Amino acid sequence: MDPVEEIKSRLDIVDIVSETVQLRKSGKNYIGFCPFHPNTRTPAFVVFPETGTWHCFGCQKGGDLFAFVMEREGWDFAEALKHLAQRAGVELRPRSPQAVQEAEEHERLRHLLEEAATFFRHHLRSPAGKAALDYLHRRGLTDETIEAWGLGYAPNARDTLLHFFREKGYAVETLLQAGLLSQRDDDSVYDRFRHRVMFPIRDAQGRMAGFGARTLDPEGVPKYLNTPQTPLFDKGSLLYGLDKATGQVRVTRYVQAQDVGVAINPMSVEGQLEGGVVQGIGRALTEDMQLDMETGEVRTSSLSTYLMPLAVDLPEIENILIRVPAEDGPFGA
Ligand SMILES: [Zn+2]
Repeated sequence: MDPVEEIKSRLDIVDIVSETVQLRKSGKNYIGFCPFHPNTRTPAFVVFPETGTWHCFGCQKGGDLFAFVMEREGWDFAEALKHLAQRAGVELRPRSPQAVQEAEEHERLRHLLEEAATFFRHHLRSPAGKAALDYLHRRGLTDETIEAWGLGYAPNARDTLLHFFREKGYAVETLLQAGLLSQRDDDSVYDRFRHRVMFPIRDAQGRMAGFGARTLDPEGVPKYLNTPQTPLFDKGSLLYGLDKATGQVRVTRYVQAQDVGVAINPMSVEGQLEGGVVQGIGRALTEDMQLDMETGEVRTSSLSTYLMPLAVDLPEIENILIRVPAEDGPFGA
């Protein structure tokens, strides 16, 4: 059975819809108020358990279990598949030994980062963390917010974290790999984050990926310091707080102004400029680009390996053509 069908057969659409919509039975089906358009008077939202589908007669949205979860969470199909597969206990595909090894290593690093977040949180509540806590309060953060976001404090020393995790049995190599230590030219190591407010950064699934850190030293440089590039931390594909938000970022307006020489065919010029914007938005907000680490070649260079944002994902793009004739081109183009 293909994984999508298997997931649908294992999960009950009524259960999943009921997590956020109050349903009542009506004959063979269930009805309720649609969560996707404002309505409180007539329940127009129907779930059909027999076919595993739903439909709203108010806003005309509908589909299967996947469509519902995607709509509710703002996920794309891949995210919904991953989430529902996990929930249904469906293995998506057998993984190669290398992939398994890599996944295990990532899991170990995540576990370490989770412990590091606890370590920093603990220090925020220690006497040494008072300056950091005062700073956060001054910035208007309540204790509730500080707790909810798991904010912490990195002690003002070169080896507090190093000693703590060495004693827990972690190898220096692993601590470096997680981006918690820095290394000098002579190979000696020290705590990367010192006397800083620590912000845990998680991926879209809420798993630890790294830290952002703000210095408490008025003269401290840099003011903000992130985890370096690690197997888990890729700035281009992480967004702070994404796990707590809906998981969805929508670009609402895009204006670009470009020096185009002379636009002999303005429509074609605008088409090219818009193509560039779409690529940029795609790289920033959706799929990461895969590089072949041996050759440096882009492995996801075609439409069959890289999902470009579609027209429905994008706002109207406003183009401003700045015409500065070039001296050496035909017609100044
Ligand atoms: Zn509706």
